[in-house]
Amino acid sequence: MRLLPLTLLLASILSAQQALDADFAKSVKEWTTKPEFSSRLVDHLPKSATVPSPKDILGHHIGAPKKLTYYAELLTYYRALAAKSARVKIVDIGKTDEGRDSIVVFLGSEETIRNLEIHRRSLARLADPRGLSNAEANDLISSTKPIYHLMAGLHSSETGPSEMLMELAYRLITEDSPLINSIRDHLIVSITPAADPDGRDRFVDWYYRYKINESREDDNLGGPPYWGKYVLHDDNRDINYSQLPMRNLLRWYLEWHPPIIHDLHESVPFLYTFSGQAPQESSLDPILYGELPWFANFEVAQLTSYGMPGVWTHGYVDMWSPGYLGFMASNHNGLLRMFETFGNGGANTMHRRINNPDATNAGDAGGDRTTREWYRPLPPYAEVDWSIRNNTNYMETGVLSGLQLAAAFPAIILQNFYEKSLHSIEAGKTEKPYGYIIPADQADQTRVALVVNILRLQGIEVSRAASEIQVSEGTFPAGSLLIKRDQPYGRLAKILLEKQNFPDPNLRTYDDSAWTMGLMARVKIVESADRALLSMPVQQIDHLEPKGKLDASPTAAAYTILDNGSVNLATLCFRLKDTRLRIAEQSFQSGGTNVPAGSLIVPADSVARLRPAVESLGLDGISLDALPAVPMHAAAIPRLAVYSTWGSTQDVGWVRYAFDHFETPYDLIFKERVKQGNLRTAYDVIVIPNQARTAKGLVYDIAPKKLPLAYTKTAAFKFLGDYGSSDDITGGMSLEGAVEFRKFVEAGGVLITLGESSAFPAEYGITRTIDAARPSAQFYAPGPIVNAEILRAAHPIFYGYTEKTVPVRWANGPLLTVPRIDRAQQVLMQFPGGDANVLSGLMKGSAEIHNRPAIVDVPVGRGRVILFATNPCYRWQNFGEFRMLFNAIINYNSNGTGNS
Ligand SMILES: [Zn+2]
Repeated sequence: MRLLPLTLLLASILSAQQALDADFAKSVKEWTTKPEFSSRLVDHLPKSATVPSPKDILGHHIGAPKKLTYYAELLTYYRALAAKSARVKIVDIGKTDEGRDSIVVFLGSEETIRNLEIHRRSLARLADPRGLSNAEANDLISSTKPIYHLMAGLHSSETGPSEMLMELAYRLITEDSPLINSIRDHLIVSITPAADPDGRDRFVDWYYRYKINESREDDNLGGPPYWGKYVLHDDNRDINYSQLPMRNLLRWYLEWHPPIIHDLHESVPFLYTFSGQAPQESSLDPILYGELPWFANFEVAQLTSYGMPGVWTHGYVDMWSPGYLGFMASNHNGLLRMFETFGNGGANTMHRRINNPDATNAGDAGGDRTTREWYRPLPPYAEVDWSIRNNTNYMETGVLSGLQLAAAFPAIILQNFYEKSLHSIEAGKTEKPYGYIIPADQADQTRVALVVNILRLQGIEVSRAASEIQVSEGTFPAGSLLIKRDQPYGRLAKILLEKQNFPDPNLRTYDDSAWTMGLMARVKIVESADRALLSMPVQQIDHLEPKGKLDASPTAAAYTILDNGSVNLATLCFRLKDTRLRIAEQSFQSGGTNVPAGSLIVPADSVARLRPAVESLGLDGISLDALPAVPMHAAAIPRLAVYSTWGSTQDVGWVRYAFDHFETPYDLIFKERVKQGNLRTAYDVIVIPNQARTAKGLVYDIAPKKLPLAYTKTAAFKFLGDYGSSDDITGGMSLEGAVEFRKFVEAGGVLITLGESSAFPAEYGITRTIDAARPSAQFYAPGPIVNAEILRAAHPIFYGYTEKTVPVRWANGPLLTVPRIDRAQQVLMQFPGGDANVLSGLMKGSAEIHNRPAIVDVPVGRGRVILFATNPCYRWQNFGEFRMLFNAIINYNSNGTGNS
């Protein structure tokens, strides 16, 4: 007999004494559609006399057909585990938008859980190894247990991981086998039960209301219009951590420093384990790029050895954007891991055609997954009956294999974590750039604060220079802010602040190719190659909250609030909506101060309300001896609506988020309201955010089903019907709705369309003279940042903008055509195009956008249509463009020609 390595041999052998749950084994066998879709790691479950199994609490084993668990029940289960086992501890990490508790569940040996705080402190010390000697580091590495964090339910339609983790948690604390004992003894396993708790409940409601009846993949009714309050899949693209559950998790991460985050998703068959393919972020540590395939290859080999087909790596997701939620680990010198397991978007067993080109399931997008490749040695089957228990078996076996590897090498994991943290600091001392300077003399400190506070949230140290900064890039005044690179997260600072040089135009990337924060926020940030920066005396800052000031004189005739480009100027208008505000259409001088166009003129008797608002919003106001002689118009707050389809609410959600943040009053309206007509009597301005990809999609939206698809709150489904409700979300506004929009504009309304929605007024003839086209098939531009040229600088949309060209994110909006005779009047901004005007990221075919309109203002009837080919409210990200949208709203009654 050949000798097998002892640890492998023992890995799946259970202790002979341990009682097993026979009912579990029988059920799992029955629910698994082929024997090879399970493994010896998960085909059994211990029976415990003290600790409740999932079935004890939920009434069924994990992976039962047609059973999904609501978030409150997930919490009930984990809290029951914590109550009954000293191997479990739960920490609350914050609330969601809808008031649910975000929690993290820690699992480990009794001794580990008892000493959790000691491990936390040790990990924090390794995460910031400044002042730590090698000997001290070695001591910490040998005495500390790494946290391996598992995250489920970021995407609410990917329902399996949240179920699986309950079983895994139970197994980890009850099973007595060499593998599980090793994991329990050498690691701290932590769990996010559902990263989007609000979305979990909404999706489970939707599943029970509709999807539980789906039996064929072609019957897919799609998901609910909403998951969480604002966004769906973009909760994994929230690069600035605007959404509460995402922010909660980042705060937790920076307190606990798990060296590994493993994010569990569902899409491609049968199990894809991420190894970080090209393009890769080259600023991250080379160690990371060794660790990624180290784990992935081990899992492919392990699951294949258990006889499970279809486990593969590579050939899917790249390592370019730092904005994915789990990347908080790799961004902070840890390791991001990710699985995609095959799922049915619910808990029904279904016949699935893996390469069905007509399949409508989201996970089926693109690529033949059944071919044998070097990275897919045993491919998935072309057709398969698939169950949620198969999904559980694959994911749990994969996770256990990842944990097995980590538990076999805990000191290596920690050593790497320490080295990566150390290298980040060292790289800042030896490699250019040495840091970034945010000059103090920027008129709008509120956008500076947005950027700085996001960097601080990410754990990046920002400091204030006590004296003038003299470096090779120039001289900057005292009080300027510095981000030195010789800090634990110096690499992340570089990644977020530098220009993105996409390495190869022939590569594709899963999300954006650019995110340069200074360009996105239109904040001046100077990269410095001067090493002297590192030794400058500075004071660390915690949080930036610019305090505004109002220089009020008792004899003032009025006040003016200077328009320095802050979005908060719009907030001030909303806060003072009952005051007679006017907006100066040209700049003027007052007592030696230059008052820019766009500045607010506020009556003298409003000072009591004005002052606190100006101060808290970080704005700058002065007294005027007399009203200015320049033209002015009223800052009248419009009756504003935001139009949303039912099938594509996410980009609408980002606009809602920004509107809520900046205190904008608006109604969210759907096809139901539009079809009622009389839009003009109710609204002055309607914004149609980017959505639906095509004009036809915007108009016809979700295809009608056999039965109406209601999104309403009922006694049984209390999580549906939020943020709007409908007796049938299908069918779209149809031509009827398009006609109502036309009537709205002709009767004097202002219609504002953003990004891809700007094809709608062009293609449905609301703007008869404007045409919309698409770039060629060769064009490829995943969210680069490009120059846009302001053509009509006096138009109110550009109040707060003093430059001639501004950086904008390419939004994949339509290529608009305006008749030559109207161009001078109607085209407000255009894309010069060409590679020289690509500021960051990739635009392949940049000549195609040459001189294409970026913003058009077209009179139609008594109203106007403002078409943005850009998206001036893209996620919580391009703050530098936000003012254009807010300007269009607070100046809706003026088109800058004096005859509005
Ligand atoms: Zn996902």
